[in-house]
Amino acid sequence: MALRVALVGIGKIALDQHVPAIAASPDWELVATVSRKGRVPGVPGFTSFEAMLAAHSEVQVVSLCLPPVPRFAPAEAALMAGRHVMLEKPPGATLAEVQALEALAAARGLTLYATWHSRMARAVAAAKGWLSGRRVLRARIDWREDVRKWHPGQTWVFEPGGMGVFDPGINALSILTEILPAPVHLTGAVLSFPANRQTPIAAELTFTGGVSAGFDWRQEGPQTWDIEVETAGGGRMALRMGGNVLEVDGHAEAGEADIMGEYPALYARMAALVRAGAREVDLAPMVHVADAMTLGRREVVEDFHF
Ligand code: NAP
Repeated sequence: MALRVALVGIGKIALDQHVPAIAASPDWELVATVSRKGRVPGVPGFTSFEAMLAAHSEVQVVSLCLPPVPRFAPAEAALMAGRHVMLEKPPGATLAEVQALEALAAARGLTLYATWHSRMARAVAAAKGWLSGRRVLRARIDWREDVRKWHPGQTWVFEPGGMGVFDPGINALSILTEILPAPVHLTGAVLSFPANRQTPIAAELTFTGGVSAGFDWRQEGPQTWDIEVETAGGGRMALRMGGNVLEVDGHAEAGEADIMGEYPALYARMAALVRAGAREVDLAPMVHVADAMTLGRREVVEDFHF
């Protein structure tokens, strides 16, 4: 029988990815939404989370597509009401609030799934397999995109807790932490803050193990989502197009940046977790972001306007 889900925060990612992924899966049925303005045609819509829960006792799973700062309260309320919870990335505004949710879910025997959609990109599992058993000498992430294209008018990304360029950069870190055969930790960062904003628009990160990363939200034209790795013995691997194309020793597979397969894979994973009575909360990508905010040297750059 299909799992009955309520979607909360009907905005860009809910409409672009969650609604089509749920509609295409026999495992899922969308029975209600909660959003102040957003609606899904043909689905009962509420502005109050509590009113939705009261009206739809059949909801088993709550999937939260809100930005990170307003996400904790409905996540906690859903778990308190005995519902399983699926979190968009990054899983929260702080590490401690996600740990609190995990403890609550565990105490109540509920599923909590902190999703990382980029880990579901087509070539990530193959890259992890190729790196397994190899020694990494050097890895470089270049994640440069146009914030106006991907977050049109979304002022929350530049408010405290919005994470700035780490909102996309954490996708790269979610892949890095998935594929590296041994963990690394951050040793330094330079964070570029527009003079009129609270979060960085660019970041340069240095990690142990020869790993570094450059994130920039000011790239117009072609977008760059690359991870290049050199291993002992001379082997080279690259993941391009946001984890969708694997290149080994310079030979690339055909492919393009396309996240359409990622959300069906997330919902399949959530269905499996619920049926197994399991939880999956990996905070490793967010630890690197928190460390960058802790250690980072601040550089002020020109004002940013959408
Ligand atoms: P969004 O469209 O700006 O926000 C989603 C919805 O959340 C909004 O439409 C709004 O709906 C509600 N909302 C926004 N701010 C709120 C607040 N302060 N309090 C209560 N509700 C609020 O953002 P998004 O792009 O969908 O991103 C949401 C999450 O998905 C983020 O964590 C992001 O990292 C992740 N994500 C985004 C993308 C992307 O391409 N944009 C891709 C993958 C993952 P109402 O006004 O109707 O309440």
